[in-house]
Amino acid sequence: MGCADWLIVGAGFTGAVLAERIATELDQSVVVIDRRAHVGGNAYDRLEDGQLVHQYGPHIFHTNSEHVWTYLSRFTEWRPYFHHVLGMVDGRLVPVPFNLNSILALFPPRMADRLCEALVQAYGFGQRVPILKLRTQESRDLCFLAEYVYARVFEGYTLKQWGMRPEDLSPSVTARVPILVSRDDRYFQDRYQAMPRDGYTALFTRMLDHPRITVETGVDFRDAITTVPHGRVVYTGPIDEFFGYAFGPLPYRSLRFDRRREERASGQLAGTINYPNEFDFTRITDQRHLNGNLDCAPLLTTEYPEPYVLGANEPYYPIPSKTTSALLERYRAEAARLDGKVFFAGRLGDYAYYNMDQACARALSLFDKRIALFAASSLSADAQAGRIVPAALSR
Ligand SMILES: Cc1cc2nc3c(=O)[nH]c(=O)nc-3n(C[C@H](O)[C@H](O)[C@H](O)COP(=O)(O)OP(=O)(O)OC[C@H]3O[C@@H](n4cnc5c(N)ncnc54)[C@H](O)[C@@H]3O)c2cc1C
Repeated sequence: MGCADWLIVGAGFTGAVLAERIATELDQSVVVIDRRAHVGGNAYDRLEDGQLVHQYGPHIFHTNSEHVWTYLSRFTEWRPYFHHVLGMVDGRLVPVPFNLNSILALFPPRMADRLCEALVQAYGFGQRVPILKLRTQESRDLCFLAEYVYARVFEGYTLKQWGMRPEDLSPSVTARVPILVSRDDRYFQDRYQAMPRDGYTALFTRMLDHPRITVETGVDFRDAITTVPHGRVVYTGPIDEFFGYAFGPLPYRSLRFDRRREERASGQLAGTINYPNEFDFTRITDQRHLNGNLDCAPLLTTEYPEPYVLGANEPYYPIPSKTTSALLERYRAEAARLDGKVFFAGRLGDYAYYNMDQACARALSLFDKRIALFAASSLSADAQAGRIVPAALSR
């Protein structure tokens, strides 16, 4: 194999977008590797008995970015889809994110009206209120509501999902599922909400189908640095792993997925049902809703959060918090020393809780603002011989 201009580690959204941009816009050669047996990263889906299955949990595409939407639309047609989630609260299934309809479903009518009125008065109709902000309210009704929602909807779910209390997580995590001062029962409120018509894997296959791109799955970066001759590197794996955990491991959260087919009658009323308080799993998703096909047998995926154990399971979620930020900064400082030779990006490379659209936006911006500029300059002899990275890894 000749020397590729770029080695891209990871064939998820971040790696695939950058491979496509570099090949199409710069006409440079790219080898994309992934240690998994497939492309698509966590968004990978596959056919099972004629139904699309999301291998790594439900992935619903949503964005407010016209730029990202237009870019991805080159590689897929879309099927409009609004995800709905119900939460089991006090034995009833109510809309999540918690909203005015949830209040009306859970409390006696006069009390519910009073609580809705208090929320609208305090924040205005249509606003999104993080639970930790609602908890700072002094009005008696809002105090009561805040404690109710905190205890019944947030606390147990967060403890299960993250193994941490909401207060100990970064607000960027706890604010992701706010209280909605509206009667909009959709899980997301973004301008664009849809599923790729033929699935995510088909989208990735089209994106990577370029004469300047070679894809090799089942290949780890540790092996590829010696076996794949390359120039510059885009790295979308865990940043601490790249540096051989030199400063200690960053924390991640993992998941176990339990999938089963059910009799037709037992399908769910909504795409996902959350169980904040009962059981040791967090949620169950009925894949039929995501596929827009309620006629086939329900395919249910139950998610069991678990600690991340190196080599035993996947680092699905970075855990941003005050305590991890100092450690992360040390790794970022090391990464900055490789600037222009190795580009770190993505959920694991940036150690940031990106949604799919955010991973795409980050990759598009990295390409426009940095990679396209750097690529114009030539690499050192060391870099061309693929010797940029081993020094970092060998520590
Ligand atoms: C359970 C779950 C549900 C989600 N639901 C949604 C949703 O509904 N909507 C949404 O917008 N987002 C959702 N996300 C987030 C979404 O998965 C991410 O935004 C997206 O996957 C980020 O893409 P990425 O390319 O940065 O990372 P990834 O998809 O994680 O891709 C990184 C790839 O790098 C590979 N890799 C890592 N290290 C190495 C190495 N050393 N050598 C070779 N390969 C390596 C990995 O195998 C992986 O395939 C969800 C995530 C999870 C975990």
